[in-house]
Amino acid sequence: MKQRIKHCNLCNVDFSTMYRVQYKNPKEWVFVCKECLLEVKKDNPLYTYGGTWKR
Ligand SMILES: [Zn+2]
Repeated sequence: MKQRIKHCNLCNVDFSTMYRVQYKNPKEWVFVCKECLLEVKKDNPLYTYGGTWKR
């Protein structure tokens, strides 16, 4: 089993709760923290929410 640790795609910090989102082209799923989530979803037509991930 891989270690269940993810780092925020934007600030690269390890959080216990991450948000799975798409926010840019090409669309791909990335994990971001709550603060970065608020940043990327702001006025972003590409933003898609894919669920919350907890370890
Ligand atoms: Zn972050």
